[in-house]
Amino acid sequence: MTEGPQATGGGPAPRYRGRFAPSPTGPLHFGSLVAALAGWLDARAAEGEWLVRIEDLDQPRTQPGAADAILRTLEALGLEWDGEVLYQSMRGEHYQAALDALRRAGYVYPCACTRTEISDSTAQLAPDGAPVYPGTCRNGLAGRAARALRVRTDTVELSFEDRIQGRVAQVLERDIGDFVLWRADGLYAYQLAVVVDDCEQGITHIVRGADLLDSTPRQIHLQHLLRCPTPRYAHVPVALDAEGRKLSKQTGAHAIDPTAAVPALTHALRFLGCSPPGDLSEAAAPAALLDWARCAWSADRIPRQRGLPMPTEKGTQIP
Ligand code: GLU
Repeated sequence: MTEGPQATGGGPAPRYRGRFAPSPTGPLHFGSLVAALAGWLDARAAEGEWLVRIEDLDQPRTQPGAADAILRTLEALGLEWDGEVLYQSMRGEHYQAALDALRRAGYVYPCACTRTEISDSTAQLAPDGAPVYPGTCRNGLAGRAARALRVRTDTVELSFEDRIQGRVAQVLERDIGDFVLWRADGLYAYQLAVVVDDCEQGITHIVRGADLLDSTPRQIHLQHLLRCPTPRYAHVPVALDAEGRKLSKQTGAHAIDPTAAVPALTHALRFLGCSPPGDLSEAAAPAALLDWARCAWSADRIPRQRGLPMPTEKGTQIP
């Protein structure tokens, strides 16, 4: 995948190029702000670049206007990005080219199984609770119609050292099973698109929520098959609501108010183990706060947990 287009100019490869890749299923909320802020600070502290990519492949889940609202909120908070925003919905041919290359190399096969058939055929569960695919269609469809395309996995242990969460290891065939790259509803799977884009955009560092920690070995597997470099990973704790669920539009997370940038950034900084001095948290504009945070930034201070309760005030979400 070395011939792909670069999102920002040519020239020598950067030492640090990070990215924020929100799915526009709703406005920016506290959980997504934490990921954006951690990524921005990590990139800026390293004098690196920070790109924004809108992951709008899953059109049925995309909310009209959400991508623009996310971008306007990032701007209002002072989290400026480099280069053009990339939209996954415009990049189908790149995902298709990667899929074709994997198919030609014999790594991909068609699968006829429905979700029910898979869950009925195995008791093994992956870390996210989904059934481990038992490889039913690996050796052919037995005359049935293909629904999806899967990539072969193997029994080699894949491990990486996350900068926050430490060592993570999976044996993909045992822990996940051959996974889907092209879905039964006709969409390219997140795992494929994210690897193609990170590779073609020359991303060197990925900072994102720890809900994606268990996806990372699948992405490293695809990077190996597509001969893409593996970025450095840092998975920040996800913000949990009072019931211990990940904050999301579905769990009623509040949108960040772009006119209250300083309190929003202050709460997100505290969540990341970084307490700004009182006078800065009172400042009117976010620039001074972000300048301070960039200098004070250390990924070592981020709690080594996959999830943390979001800050609350008198029982209500803040900000
Ligand atoms: N689009 C994903 C999300 O909003 C993030 C993907 C990534 O950072 O790899 O949860």
